[in-house]
Amino acid sequence: MSTSSFESLNFDEFSLENPTNRFAGRRSRLACLSHDGTHFAEVEDLFNKGWRHGRKVRPQIQGIFKILWPDSNLEPYLQHRKQVQTRVRSRNNTGNEKLLFHGTNRACLLGESSSNVLLCGLKECYLCSILRASFDVKKCGMKNAFKRFGHGIYTTACSSKADDYSCNLSQDACLRTMLVNRVVVGRPYKRYRNAPDLVKPPDGFDSVTGEIGWDLNHEGEFTFIAHFWIPYSPCL
Ligand SMILES: [Zn+2]
Repeated sequence: MSTSSFESLNFDEFSLENPTNRFAGRRSRLACLSHDGTHFAEVEDLFNKGWRHGRKVRPQIQGIFKILWPDSNLEPYLQHRKQVQTRVRSRNNTGNEKLLFHGTNRACLLGESSSNVLLCGLKECYLCSILRASFDVKKCGMKNAFKRFGHGIYTTACSSKADDYSCNLSQDACLRTMLVNRVVVGRPYKRYRNAPDLVKPPDGFDSVTGEIGWDLNHEGEFTFIAHFWIPYSPCL
């Protein structure tokens, strides 16, 4: 994925302020990617390769949306990434940034049709809450009854695992959905055993990752932000 567009906030490709994102004629937060567009194949490939649970039939992606952010949301993330990059000097030049999946509650019917792209105001719709104001660990962290590496937001490269946490609260929902987040992994603290009391990565580390495939983001950090949203066919 190209990172050159991140050089200037004004031209960040995920910024609402970017003139190329104003095609919808209004300040829509979701932009549907065309199948032959820049990111579609890349995100689709990650989703398909990350579907590792043989017991679950791999679903069909119905569309991929780019999530657009006001600069006030993007700036802390990009600043954090810059700081980490200065420290770790990763080869990808983005603080060892990765795209990781996160499944959460959806109470509305966002994305059920191509015209249904307006965020709802339902309190229990964590998806729209994340899309509107990014992650709130108090809500999104609650889904994992057992917090393997402490309290925080869990993301994973395994899409079929994130699917376990994707939940439709509306009985009228036909599709399932998942977020794809950019995560600044930096220098990861690799944890092979549970550490439920962990509140932040130890000094000298930027994130916590587990052998089982979870990555954890703790409260108050700007280590990640949702950048794509995928509605897909129900699992069988
Ligand atoms: Zn909603």
